[in-house]
Amino acid sequence: MSVIKELREYFTEIMRLNYIQALLGWDQEVNMMGYKSVKGRSEQRALITQLIHKRVTSEKTGKLIIEAGKLKDLNDIDAAMLREAKREYDLETKLPEELVIEITKTTALAQQAWQKARQEKDFKLFVPLLEKQVELQKEKAKKLETHPDLYSTLIDLYEPGVTYDWIAKVFNPIKPKLIDIVKKLNSSSDKPDDSILKKPYDIDKQFKLSFEIIKKFNFDLGYGRQDRSTHPFTTSLAPLDVRITTRTREDYLNECIFGTIHECGHALYEMGIKEELHETILCTGTSMGIHESQSRTLENYIGRSKEFWTYWYPSFQKYFPEILKNYPMEEFYRAINIVQPSFIRVNADEVTYGLHIILRFELEKDIIDGKVQVNELPEIWNSRFEELLGIVPPDDAEGVLQDIHWSHGYFGYFPTYFLGTLYGAQIYNNALKKNPSLPEEYKKGEFSNIMNYLKEKIHQHGAIYRANDLIKRVTGEDLNPDYFFKYVEEKFYPIYGL
Ligand code: ZN
Repeated sequence: MSVIKELREYFTEIMRLNYIQALLGWDQEVNMMGYKSVKGRSEQRALITQLIHKRVTSEKTGKLIIEAGKLKDLNDIDAAMLREAKREYDLETKLPEELVIEITKTTALAQQAWQKARQEKDFKLFVPLLEKQVELQKEKAKKLETHPDLYSTLIDLYEPGVTYDWIAKVFNPIKPKLIDIVKKLNSSSDKPDDSILKKPYDIDKQFKLSFEIIKKFNFDLGYGRQDRSTHPFTTSLAPLDVRITTRTREDYLNECIFGTIHECGHALYEMGIKEELHETILCTGTSMGIHESQSRTLENYIGRSKEFWTYWYPSFQKYFPEILKNYPMEEFYRAINIVQPSFIRVNADEVTYGLHIILRFELEKDIIDGKVQVNELPEIWNSRFEELLGIVPPDDAEGVLQDIHWSHGYFGYFPTYFLGTLYGAQIYNNALKKNPSLPEEYKKGEFSNIMNYLKEKIHQHGAIYRANDLIKRVTGEDLNPDYFFKYVEEKFYPIYGL
């Protein structure tokens, strides 16, 4: 057997263990009722993690990577497979076992402390464990040393190949532009009113309708499934077994509808990976940012467009006649596109969202560099929040304590959310250039051309191409935020009568 074939098959078994791990997690989130059941499940999950670690770091993996590295003229797929295998191997072998165990234990405690601190709106309760988590993440970055600076090494875990400097170059000029646009929109005397979205919408009907929407997007029920969970997510239990979850809130329509469309974007990426890559190490999205570009494209660029609602609004009126029967589509469209500074990132609109991310990105850099101490965070958060969004959080629960990420040690993850928005805008612009009649098709409930475009350009390739190579292949240029601003200006100024 050739070395490459052996490497491929060896990692297929690792992928299968990963899928089993995902199934254990999915079932826990979706079905597990008893809190007493968690204990047994955590032990099973720990065992699978251990088995994966053992296989990835085995002598055999090391040998296969060295042997495969000697081969010349590998094709794109084989080269990418070797690149990813080496990446996994390095990540798992460079970290001492004691450090991994220490991080796992600290994370469990930090998450509890974070929950309590958030509940009691008291940041002090979180300080000791967050301090420890920061130290451990710095330690981890020192061991991995993918880049000279620690924060870039952490970013690389989620957005391979990307550094702090590169993102700063993208985000820095964006910041003042976003602040200006938000101010300009909010100076309008003709602002949208979103109270219509906060009426009592029957949650079962919401769920049913969201299911209708994803079916139209070609979410394949032959190997897909939708359930409810506390936090919406997408997971693959095998290449042909993709699960999404959603949550419903009676007094806020956006949660279920846009949440479902968002997860459907992630799911279609996973569903669209070509068969040749199934069960290989490349059978996954290429980065968190590119994954997010797919969910945001469905949720925002398509799902919040007027043409999309031209098709769907009559169904919503039929499902919720007592609320929407006499409410004009145009006003509903304006309501779902309202732009206003708010405290909570996950509920932020398309325009202010970037500012929430830039705040976290800059703060994380300062924390990792030791320029900001953990105990100073609430004060610094609030003052920077005011600079960016013009409002001050009433307490830490709506401020520095709102996200779970830091308790998990996920420093470097946040920027990928906004990179996704920017990648998505550029890709979607290309789709429209190639096929300007796409929006007209949405009006008729026709989404197959846009879905085929995304599948052909992005989904099928799985993790073969790194984000920057992929965006260049698809659009002919490097990441260019101008497409996002063009979209924002063309869409939101008219909505605000400007
Ligand atoms: Zn997402």
